[in-house]
Amino acid sequence: MPDDVFGLLSPAQADLTPGDDGSVITSVETYALSVPLPKTLADSTASLNAWTIPVVEIRTADGKVGTGISGVHLGPELLCHVIDRYYAPALVGASSEDILGTWKRLYWLPTHWIGRGGVVHMALSMVDIALWDLAAQRANLPLWRLLGGMADAIETYNTDGGWLNLSVAEVVRDLNSLVDRGWRRVKIKVGKADWREDAHRVRAVRQAIGADITLMCDANQRWDFSTANRMLPVLAEVGMDWFEEPVHADDLQAHQRLQATSTVDVAAGESLYSYHAFANFIAADALRVVQVDVTRVGGVTEWMQVARHAAANGLRVVPHAGDMMQVHQHLVGTVLSETQPLVEFIPWTQDAFEHRSVVHDGFLERPQAPGASTAIAPQAREKWQIKGVGATRAQN
Ligand code: MG
Repeated sequence: MPDDVFGLLSPAQADLTPGDDGSVITSVETYALSVPLPKTLADSTASLNAWTIPVVEIRTADGKVGTGISGVHLGPELLCHVIDRYYAPALVGASSEDILGTWKRLYWLPTHWIGRGGVVHMALSMVDIALWDLAAQRANLPLWRLLGGMADAIETYNTDGGWLNLSVAEVVRDLNSLVDRGWRRVKIKVGKADWREDAHRVRAVRQAIGADITLMCDANQRWDFSTANRMLPVLAEVGMDWFEEPVHADDLQAHQRLQATSTVDVAAGESLYSYHAFANFIAADALRVVQVDVTRVGGVTEWMQVARHAAANGLRVVPHAGDMMQVHQHLVGTVLSETQPLVEFIPWTQDAFEHRSVVHDGFLERPQAPGASTAIAPQAREKWQIKGVGATRAQN
């Protein structure tokens, strides 16, 4: 038996379309940033003072640099190591234009054995995003135009007002401030130790912000089925738009049972890692809002696969912004759907990027610079790069 049982392991063996010589990958560099948050933020699972961005920069012979990112609470060195140790040797010398071929080649490396989800798959998403960033730069187009997306401004919903560590009065104050600044859709965290406290919280918030504002909530998998089930009538009573990650992300049956008895849409997807996982949830009618995250499924390539499938099944596609919306602002509004595009707005990491997002009155303007808006600002790297994380592999 040949060493390469899949026929996919090395660029020399792969059936690559060579393209022009300029597209050949000459180096792969990884590093990570720790971007401080303006305040401590908590949901039902974590309390954060900084947001960590693992970065891969893929350089090609024509001098272009494609940047791929993910977003994590900890462990950026793990994602960087997967790329440095296992992916980079298969990338250097290959064509950056063979995006799907590269995806399959990296996916079926023996790393598949140790991580079809989580670290290994998130590392694959970083590489895929970098290759799409390069493709858009080579076409001299912003990524959304390369993907054939609509040019209209995209509505955003704001997640930055409803943290679980805030009192009801503080949540109301922050949500009212967001509404004053133009947002019509906002989300709050739930998942207190006693669900009755959450019931009080969502009723108080609804009463304070009024009926006209669209309100969503997110339990971050905190509850078991019974608790989530008890909350459903309360959420229906306050007109909750969606109920996000009510139970463990892998518990398809619990999602299905909740959705079957509820007029509130079940939302999930930030903890699903493959288009097969999404297809199973969709086939079971276990969710109505598909929160596929480009940094957690395998990049733009797999995101588009999930989004088309979800839209074809009549579901809303509203991505979870693990990239702090830098890439998602290009991806929403690129597939046919009866629903208006919507993207999650979280402002924490804008200073890390060369091209900031532009939002007016809750609506996001389509980026105009070529690429995927992932390039890291040099001053951000100077200030926030984490020492000792990352490496560079270059052509000899
Ligand atoms: Mg969430």
